[in-house]
Amino acid sequence: MSNEELDLLRNDLDQVNLELLALINKRAKLVQDIGRVKQQQGMNRFDPVRERSMLDSIIQNNDGPFETSTVQHIFKEIFKASLELQEDDHRKALLVSRKKKPEDTVVTVNGESIGDGNPHFIVGPCAVESYDQVAQVAKAAKDEGLNLLRGGAFKPRTSPYDFQGLGLEGLKILKRVADEYNLAVISEIVNPADIPTAVDYIDVIQIGARNMQNFELLKAAGQVDKPVLLKRGMSATISEFINAAEYIISQGNENIILCERGIRTYEKATRNTLDISAVPILKQETHLPVMVDVTHSTGRRDLLLPAAKAALAIGADGVMAEVHPDPAVALSDSAQQMDIDMFKHFINELK
Ligand code: PEP
Ligand code: MN
Repeated sequence: MSNEELDLLRNDLDQVNLELLALINKRAKLVQDIGRVKQQQGMNRFDPVRERSMLDSIIQNNDGPFETSTVQHIFKEIFKASLELQEDDHRKALLVSRKKKPEDTVVTVNGESIGDGNPHFIVGPCAVESYDQVAQVAKAAKDEGLNLLRGGAFKPRTSPYDFQGLGLEGLKILKRVADEYNLAVISEIVNPADIPTAVDYIDVIQIGARNMQNFELLKAAGQVDKPVLLKRGMSATISEFINAAEYIISQGNENIILCERGIRTYEKATRNTLDISAVPILKQETHLPVMVDVTHSTGRRDLLLPAAKAALAIGADGVMAEVHPDPAVALSDSAQQMDIDMFKHFINELK
């Protein structure tokens, strides 16, 4: 074959490529029109019966040289791409994603702008046990210049016979202490029905690891005008975690703080395994602030400070840690809470 002949064939091929391109896009426009009609009529976009009949017709008319399986594969890809074209934008880019919103979301609570590039701290007891217990931690936190206090009033415990928290009475204690010390309070809510009452007492709704996929709770938290601190489920993948946050934002509430709190692995040396790489992944994939709970991830007092340093070094927007005036007598998580002296050392190493 002469070079001239080769050039002619190549020219033909280039021409066919352009024709194919024009035809594929012509098909895409038709698919978009069909999508609009289907949407108006409330019909499902994916129609496997219609797809099967289109494929059958294509296969019947295939005279080669491509084999049936090859033709089927090529058209399946075209169908798939067309279906994606019909899907709503949010199916392609989640509302929590950086693709959707490149700028960082900053959640401001009591003067703390979480996500502004500076480290922020949330400390407090695992559970609210009494006014005095919470007030002692609040005083220590305030003395160190902190503004955010945590404390569980509804405790989702592994055993139904363990201390379940003081409930509404616990929220009232938190509110009283918060007002006295000018702190904002973060507390876990486990039941969607408690949210309307809880918002009068707390500043941030915490959704705990055990409830990360409690979709009704996520939706209810998405419908109120309060920031939400969402913890990663103990066996949740990063994608499941991001989708849990999407449940909240899809209801209109954008003030979400993600919190990595360790995941369950085969390792027994720590209570959970702190998935430190989740922090930069979440920061890259979403625009939401990311905090690290060093208490529940390690379950070990001796690891709180190094884990907190690691969290901040890798780009976390803040750290959560449990502090109790007398951890030895705490009604929950006795082994992992810091006492006040240890907290002071901890915070001064990080500030
Ligand atoms: C908590 O922070 O009080 C708590 C129960 O944590 P987690 O949901 O991460 O276990
Ligand atoms: Mn705890």
